[in-house]
Amino acid sequence: MMTDRRSVLGAGVRIATAMACGAVAVKQMSAREHLDGLIADDAIRSAAASDFGRLVSKQPRAVFRPASAGDIASLMRWAAGSEVKVAARGQGHSIYGRAMAEDGVVIDMTAMNSVHGVQDHRVTVDAGATWERLFEETIANGLTPPVLTNYLGLSIGGTLAVGGIGATSARYGMQTDQVTELEVVTGEGHRMICSETSNPELFDATRAGLGQCGVITRATLRLMRAPDRVRRYQLFYPGLSSMTADMQRALREERFDQLQGAVIPDGSVGWRYLIEAAVHYDDKAAPDDKAVLSEFSDERNAVVVTDLAFHKDATAFAKLESMLRANGQWFNPKPWLLAFLPASNAERFARELLGGLTAADVGPFGRVTFYPMHTRAVRTPLVRLPDGDVVFVLNVIRMPTVSDGGTMARLIADNATLYHRIRDLGGTQYPVSALPMSRDDWRAHFGPRWRVFQGVRKRHDPKNLLTPGYV
Ligand SMILES: Cc1cc2nc3c(=O)[nH]c(=O)nc-3n(C[C@H](O)[C@H](O)[C@H](O)COP(=O)(O)OP(=O)(O)OC[C@H]3O[C@@H](n4cnc5c(N)ncnc54)[C@H](O)[C@@H]3O)c2cc1C
Repeated sequence: MMTDRRSVLGAGVRIATAMACGAVAVKQMSAREHLDGLIADDAIRSAAASDFGRLVSKQPRAVFRPASAGDIASLMRWAAGSEVKVAARGQGHSIYGRAMAEDGVVIDMTAMNSVHGVQDHRVTVDAGATWERLFEETIANGLTPPVLTNYLGLSIGGTLAVGGIGATSARYGMQTDQVTELEVVTGEGHRMICSETSNPELFDATRAGLGQCGVITRATLRLMRAPDRVRRYQLFYPGLSSMTADMQRALREERFDQLQGAVIPDGSVGWRYLIEAAVHYDDKAAPDDKAVLSEFSDERNAVVVTDLAFHKDATAFAKLESMLRANGQWFNPKPWLLAFLPASNAERFARELLGGLTAADVGPFGRVTFYPMHTRAVRTPLVRLPDGDVVFVLNVIRMPTVSDGGTMARLIADNATLYHRIRDLGGTQYPVSALPMSRDDWRAHFGPRWRVFQGVRKRHDPKNLLTPGYV
């Protein structure tokens, strides 16, 4: 690793670049923007050429580590002059190169991670902070974001760029629905504030806008009072139909605060069908398990009921993460497919999918997430869901134990076939899936929103420099 730290441009700009091809890049930067302070580091550049998916590699010419929105504005003005592509990177948990920029600049957002105080059920946070950091801050005030992702090690900017779904989304929508204001640096290097009333078109094109119009530098989010405890129910079923019927009933009757379901590989018998649901409550009002689970048709002698403090429940994924890190599977390729299906054909499609899926392709720690959610709370225009009051989430979380290129190419091709079938059935993808998407695919994905979205993108990033990892 080579490190060459010299004085830094007045704005505090730091560039990390590889000396190998960096000589050219460095010269260009110096000439145009008088960037004087450079860190040359092969390892940093290589890290930005990879992501959690381990399926795609695109080498940037440089990595940029801003300390402020002003730094990002300086970089974008330089990039606009030099016509260099730029992608923001939060925690790099994309699985198909979406935070990469081949021969461009990757903005490493991790240092912009301050939480700027919690007030009046609102919090303002820098976009590079993780949800975990934010959550620790809000819970200390007895508050929580209404929607938390299952895994809190994702960045605020990274999930707001795609939507951010969690186990409470049926009730509260996406994380993008909790945003009241954003600070954004556009492709032209303008620092702008947007909200429902101020620059609303930029606000609507930034939330779930795949980083195409600007880099989110700061977000103000709604909070709600955190419950004291969570009673969690794991209900097992002999088949998909009984599980689906109970999930639909649970959703209709609003029995739970969290509702998710999954089909999990079971070496000997094929698949196990599982509802994972939870009731939030305060210390003195524990739910009556019998009433909560009444008239469900699960294998009642297999039910698992746990009771945890809200904080412990929200951070529980960390245990799985440690285990997968320890056994190495965290670092294997992950050709995931994440989608939404219309309620009318979700079960039929899931059955079709499971019929063609092998336990080996899913892996012992993989699963097919499958559960219904109301759409009424999802108001972010660019979150694309099928028509209907209820849709099904269907995620093929593949964690194969092998990592050879042939298997990965086959699974990515399978994802593409499945995606086109999903689309034919009126479904959509959650845009973090591992599959190639052409411009026409994106046009189809955004459907009636495409024209307006592209209009805003052209206004704010006329040279099409931002976030090239989607095509
Ligand atoms: C283990 C695991 C669990 C997950 N669980 C969930 C879940 O429960 N719910 C859910 O919704 N998703 C989930 N995801 C998917 C995840 O939300 C997305 O992949 C998310 O984009 C990753 O966040 P990140 O900070 O790692 O983003 P990155 O991978 O760094 O970036 C993702 C995209 O956002 C863009 N971006 C990043 N920061 C900014 C910014 N500041 N401004 C503009 N654009 C930006 C990037 O350029 C890129 O296009 C999960 C992923 C993993 C790996």
